Amino acid sequence: MATIAEPELQFTTRPVDAPISAQVRAAVLANPGFGTQFSEHMVTIEWSEKRGWHDAVVGPRQPIALDPAAAVLHYAQEIFEGLKAYRHPDGSVALFRPYENARRFNRSAERLAMPALPEDVFVESVRRLVEADRQWLPTVDGGSLYLRPFMFASEVFLGVRPAREYKYVVIASPAGNYFKSGAPAVSIWVSEDYTRAAPGGTGAAKCGGNYAASLVPQAEAIAKGHDQVVFLDAVENKWIEELGGMNLYFVFDDGTLLTPALSGTILAGITRDSLLTLARDEGLTVQEGRYGIDQWREDAQSGRLVECFACGTAAVVTPVGKVASRSGEFTIGSGGPGQLTQKLKSRLVAIQRGEAPDPHGWVVKL
Ligand code: PMP
Repeated sequence: MATIAEPELQFTTRPVDAPISAQVRAAVLANPGFGTQFSEHMVTIEWSEKRGWHDAVVGPRQPIALDPAAAVLHYAQEIFEGLKAYRHPDGSVALFRPYENARRFNRSAERLAMPALPEDVFVESVRRLVEADRQWLPTVDGGSLYLRPFMFASEVFLGVRPAREYKYVVIASPAGNYFKSGAPAVSIWVSEDYTRAAPGGTGAAKCGGNYAASLVPQAEAIAKGHDQVVFLDAVENKWIEELGGMNLYFVFDDGTLLTPALSGTILAGITRDSLLTLARDEGLTVQEGRYGIDQWREDAQSGRLVECFACGTAAVVTPVGKVASRSGEFTIGSGGPGQLTQKLKSRLVAIQRGEAPDPHGWVVKL
């Protein structure tokens, strides 16, 4: 288990004027869904060129006033993170690898020409919000409190250059199951007309613009009757990269695993990284490499590919049962959840939820 360092920045606390009743909160927590319900607090921290990071506040969740010329509204200088707080069987609350999110946030900041936020301030901001909103941790099976730290250019200026003022905010949203259908396996659509990220672009950063660009291909996937879109590389239109919000793993009949390498155009998922380690702990061979769409189809049809799953904080581990493109569909394995997928998922979830030992020191208790 890791511990949290004390940051230099002082946080001020402001009370919520009209707290939400226990009855309303209980109704929300009984059926939280994903991303539609929110807790009562938020953290805000300001940054300016002159003062650096200042005015850290844990206060009531409320709308943010923005000048119409705030730079983010014009040039999308915005980044975010996503992580979860889990209630452990002993009643304590824990975060999973929050320093990894802090580091990725700063890598995103660097790519978007934004100031770095000290890692301990990032983790402390999240810790303080969870403390303030402890009562918003869902009680439903598989529930968690999803945390969304983000930063945007708040400077009032229309010139195209890095802004000189930023706002960092953390909000929390009680979360249940990510996929509405709660389906045991998802069906994915191969995007052949749209790519997500080009070499030298922002694919490895968690910036809002990447997600804006994924909406049309994702809508196409839904319109064709599938759950998610899978992107291919932008150069050869051949190599499998990732889904709109999840990384991919392939499981072969010889027991080996493969996940697309961090080529610079995909997001370095923390779930992806954790599964690399857990799979190796199991004695499995895991490769990070390239895997082509034609090979994918061929291996699924020949039976060499036995399982495929997507992974990310929101959906954890989700089996991929079916893949479709303009040239037809193919099924992976039985089309349902595979054995190794289920095993890795159980191992990860047990660590996150404090139901198994944490040999890698990933769990950070509040
Ligand atoms: N890829 C993309 C594009 C994502 O948005 C996410 C979610 N952050 C992931 C992969 C998975 O990352 P993580 O495991 O850190 O949630």
